[in-house]
Amino acid sequence: MRKNLLRAIPKVDDLIAEERIAGLLESAPRSLVLEVVREALSSLRQELVACEESELPESLDLSALFKKISDEVKRRNGFHLKRVINATGVVIHTNLGRSLIAPSIAQHLTEVSCYYSTLEYDLETGKRGTRYSHVEDLLCELTGAEAALVVNNNAAAVMLVLSTIGNGKEVVVSRGQLVEIGGAFRVPDVMRASGAELVEVGTTNKTHLRDYAAAINEQTAAVLKVHTSNYRILGFTSEVEIEALAGLCKEKGIPLIEDLGSGSLIDFSQFGLMKEPTVIESMKGGADVVTFSGDKMLGGPQAGIILGRKHWIDAMKKNQLTRALRVDKMTLCTLEATLKLYRDPEAVRREIPTLRMLTEQQETILPRAVALQSRLEALGEAYETALYETSSEVGGGSLPLEKLPTWAVAVKPSHSSTQRLAEALRARILPIVARVVEDRLIFDLRTIQEGESDEIVLALKALI
Ligand SMILES: *Cc1c(COP(=O)(O)O)cnc(C)c1O
Repeated sequence: MRKNLLRAIPKVDDLIAEERIAGLLESAPRSLVLEVVREALSSLRQELVACEESELPESLDLSALFKKISDEVKRRNGFHLKRVINATGVVIHTNLGRSLIAPSIAQHLTEVSCYYSTLEYDLETGKRGTRYSHVEDLLCELTGAEAALVVNNNAAAVMLVLSTIGNGKEVVVSRGQLVEIGGAFRVPDVMRASGAELVEVGTTNKTHLRDYAAAINEQTAAVLKVHTSNYRILGFTSEVEIEALAGLCKEKGIPLIEDLGSGSLIDFSQFGLMKEPTVIESMKGGADVVTFSGDKMLGGPQAGIILGRKHWIDAMKKNQLTRALRVDKMTLCTLEATLKLYRDPEAVRREIPTLRMLTEQQETILPRAVALQSRLEALGEAYETALYETSSEVGGGSLPLEKLPTWAVAVKPSHSSTQRLAEALRARILPIVARVVEDRLIFDLRTIQEGESDEIVLALKALI
């Protein structure tokens, strides 16, 4: 019995000639297909050898073998960094790539990336130009800043600012703002790495202007205000307003730096979201240097944007660190195109996916949830489905307490576990990531993009 089964295992060459395996060679390299075939045959042999006599199958399941090989080739030949469907309802999902680039930018991005560009070339003079000039004027136009500089991310921006202004000197920060942002950005550690010495003032819940005033001396290079973007201290608290802090810094002749974190260019409170300080308000309030992320509430590519007084930005441009933190052409191209969209306040919410998702009202999400639920309901008794009213999150460590009312579809498989369904959806070529709440899978329509409901229906149908 065992002998017959072992003898029936196909030879590598025969397998490769099989239509279903040969077809894989159209999209995968021969060496990869051969490797997977050899591994599959060897593991099949081992399984048969190790199997109890009574458990042995009557014949080899070749069709299962083909499927195993085909799935494995596709898995290994696929991209590791690839598109997923975000059904979690977390809009600025750091693990899923934060902000989506506006589709209207895609063609321009492809062109600049796949062809030569003006990255560091001045077409007027025919001489070397600077990569930073592409977005500096636009940033100043949109925010009223004197000068601007863009680096790799906001962590790099804070590091560069502190290294330029505070290296070897003291920088004063409120104890209530010594935050850690996801992915190990800790204000005290960044400060140490930049060469600035941290001087903590106030207490966790309360810091007063007099605390700052008492800490400033000849060694003080600056005051740093950090937006506590990912948590809130509630109750008996106080922080010093930017205007008052700016007044004190001016009197003492030192710059005020503000790390805004998300740093939006529009006031989200007009759409019913919680009030967050905008970049323009921070500049108007008297900050000399402001930093924020490109891919949080701005809705652009990963980048760290620094705005501020010209002499400070000039000093940063000369800092050796700038060369190490510089952004590439794809970032600059995407950032310029994203910023250009802000010139039209009507279009910006429609065009930038992050803004569209953050400001979409619950009523307009409902019809999409109803449609998805009825399509899933039509799949039959394999799933129990229901409309589910819940809330989405801003994410990205921004507006942590903000709950965005939304509509979702809750799905519970009738013959399998919810956890296994979630795993199977993640294992697809186009993976679907959803939340599990009270043993049901929740698909939040706020972050599901156009056309993706079709994929969800297809996926759940295929898994019956
Ligand atoms: C998110 C955040 C950072 C880090 O920004 P990255 O762009 O992720 O590097 C720094 N400071 C604050 C206050 C933040 O919210």
